[in-house]
Amino acid sequence: MTQPPYVIDEMISAKTIAARIEDLAKEIETAFAGTEKLVVVGLLRGSFVFIADLVRELDLNVEVDFLEASSYGDAMESSREVRILKDLRGEINGRDVLVVEDIVDTGFTLHHVVGLLRSRKPKRLETIALLDKPSRREVDIKATWTGFQIPDEFVVGYGIDYAQRNRNLPFIGKVRFT
Ligand code: 5GP
Ligand code: MG
Repeated sequence: MTQPPYVIDEMISAKTIAARIEDLAKEIETAFAGTEKLVVVGLLRGSFVFIADLVRELDLNVEVDFLEASSYGDAMESSREVRILKDLRGEINGRDVLVVEDIVDTGFTLHHVVGLLRSRKPKRLETIALLDKPSRREVDIKATWTGFQIPDEFVVGYGIDYAQRNRNLPFIGKVRFT
């Protein structure tokens, strides 16, 4: 599939993201203080940059695992039907778990993943999303921690793609068609 021509306008700088992650990491350390091990679950693929920066700020005993849920394909709209494409490698029964998502949009993805992981009886499960688009919500769910609330714009960068492109941008930008 080819995309119409577009440019990317910077919305959140790399510096601003880094500063916010430092603060979020402190809050997570406090919340999970004394944990034997925190299983940090990244939702592929959009969270891969965020989880990499986040875990390096966490002064906790951390294990990293990944889960892939289907959502957009190459489209700009959620399918509202969530499938698990790749499950966790490890067990989370009785564990402290932090689910790391790039964006909460309609809420279907995070709602589905949280339901699935809760059924495995973790000791505690919390969620963090780098970005939140509250105006788009269709399912009543909110991440425990949110990096930034943003308006209803289609964004890319910092791990987040448009048709698999632009994940390598160090900042968050909005797509503007030209
Ligand atoms: P939800 O299930 O909450 O509607 O969708 C969440 C997923 O949709 C996010 O994890 C992300 O992968 C994708 N998504 C939502 N908004 C955007 C956006 O602005 N840009 C991109 N590239 N993906 C988005
Ligand atoms: Mg995602």
